[in-house]
Amino acid sequence: MPLHTTQYYQQKLELELAQIQQKIISCLQQSHDSDYLLLAKKLQADSVMKWPELMSGVFSEQLKDYRHRLEQLEASLSQIQIGLYGYCADCEAELSAELLELDPAQQRCNRCRKS
Ligand SMILES: [Zn+2]
Repeated sequence: MPLHTTQYYQQKLELELAQIQQKIISCLQQSHDSDYLLLAKKLQADSVMKWPELMSGVFSEQLKDYRHRLEQLEASLSQIQIGLYGYCADCEAELSAELLELDPAQQRCNRCRKS
């Protein structure tokens, strides 16, 4: 994948990552659960790569969804760093621009997702 294309997706991924981080923090802060308030403080003090692990004890469906998305975004950003972004995790086919436009954190081609 050309470098400028990768940079384009990287920007999209980083933007969404920042948005998810904000959503997680405000979701935790809006709860009246002292464990969640404490967790919000811990997360803010730590690197985002540690967030999925720190959030492992979270049980709200909403927060689980955010956590899952966070993992997907981080996985894609690591793939960019090692130069393996944009390929299907199963068959290694190059993912189409249409697919990555819909979801820059997509890990599988249409064929492998269906099977
Ligand atoms: Zn595939």
